[in-house]
Amino acid sequence: MLLQAASPMAIPIVVLDPEVTAPAKQVSQPSVMPLADPPLQHVDGAFTSLGMISQLAQQVDILTIEIEHVDVDALEHVANEFKTTGGRSGQGVKVYPAPSIIRTIQDKYAQKVHLQGQGIPVAPFLPITSSPATSLGSNPRDALRESVLSAAHQFGYPLMLKSRHLAYDGKGNFVLKSADGIDEALQALIPEASLATGKPIADRLYAEKWAPFVKEVAVMVVRGVDGQTRSYPAVETIHRDSVCHIVYAPLRPVDTPTSGIGKEQRGMGKLGEKSVDRRAQEAAEKAIDALGEGAVGVFGVEMFLLPDGSLLLNEIAPRPHNSGHYTIEACNYSQYTAHLYAILSLPLPPIKFIPSSAAMLNLLGWSASGSDDFLKPDGVVRKAIGMGAAVHLYGKAGCRKGRKMGHVTIMGESDEEVKAKIDELVDVLPGDYK
Ligand code: ADP
Ligand code: MG
Repeated sequence: MLLQAASPMAIPIVVLDPEVTAPAKQVSQPSVMPLADPPLQHVDGAFTSLGMISQLAQQVDILTIEIEHVDVDALEHVANEFKTTGGRSGQGVKVYPAPSIIRTIQDKYAQKVHLQGQGIPVAPFLPITSSPATSLGSNPRDALRESVLSAAHQFGYPLMLKSRHLAYDGKGNFVLKSADGIDEALQALIPEASLATGKPIADRLYAEKWAPFVKEVAVMVVRGVDGQTRSYPAVETIHRDSVCHIVYAPLRPVDTPTSGIGKEQRGMGKLGEKSVDRRAQEAAEKAIDALGEGAVGVFGVEMFLLPDGSLLLNEIAPRPHNSGHYTIEACNYSQYTAHLYAILSLPLPPIKFIPSSAAMLNLLGWSASGSDDFLKPDGVVRKAIGMGAAVHLYGKAGCRKGRKMGHVTIMGESDEEVKAKIDELVDVLPGDYK
């Protein structure tokens, strides 16, 4: 989608991805772009390989990411090696966002420590360690169990246990309902093999107090090289099994979830005069500013709206985010165009939401393997096209259950109309996704 946004401006992009047929590589052929002199070649390799990242960096002036699970040491190395010389123009390669920011965000615990240190409200959290102060012998599982129990003692149940690294779509999270589930949780989050060595398993997990949210809210923020920050409207994200399922934009009022009222009545919360939307935007912008000067590009900021109307920041994605897919059709410029403007040091015009109401439905794979036929008769895609929705199928090679294979965006005159259409689409999804 970033390459699709670059196309109308003829911005050449070269992609690093392990798969030769990666969706991004299907969108453009940089080797035939006249502006790309010397010719560019997509790179087939791992996001974690220094050699591959260097091969990419040699071809570009600006390097950016669409996934945070990259090798930050390699990115930092490249940023230093190509600081003032090298790269496509020979004048150095700029890396946005700054690798140090990606490093902080990669470690969910470090991210929380950083945000809390900047005065941004987050759910209370504690590290889980396999080497507590009290010696419990050499069994790391016992020590971890003790550490989880002590967090549960402080925060109560349910307790959210999270992996610090490599987590996405709920993978790496475990909702602990009682002390009885601790062994199961540890088994799920820290495989037996890594405990068998008997060595301390430090820094793998942390515990978070349960946030009894009434809604999950997200805001896309774009920050330019000069520090100018703009945010898209706050939206409601609805997750199923920790995977984003539906996004309603803009945020519907708390008391009338996703039902039809006019734009002017939206967003009033219970805390003070400011609307929830505005407070969410302010909190998101503050969080991105707090990342520092290197925070350049688009960021997805996930938040919890609590019953008293206050907001807690959940996590930041340092990249375009599926809670911002609706911006492709529903805003004057999309999150992808915004990202390009930011990293290319172009102006960031005011952001406008164009229709009265919009929603995005993720199309998740439902087969265990192979390729789902999204275009089959009576399927969700045909129905979506029939109702005038914008359909995006990503062209991913392998379909897995729960994998994000595409999305549709619906726009309408009212929240009610959009909600009714989403309901109709959800109705034709396979059983698990209804
Ligand atoms: P991921 O990287 O998978 O997006 P998150 O930390 O955002 O991980 O958690 C996934 C989902 O789990 C959230 O969108 C939310 O629905 C739920 N969740 C996460 N943390 C908490 C919490 N502290 N309290 C309640 N629910 C939570
Ligand atoms: Mg999340």
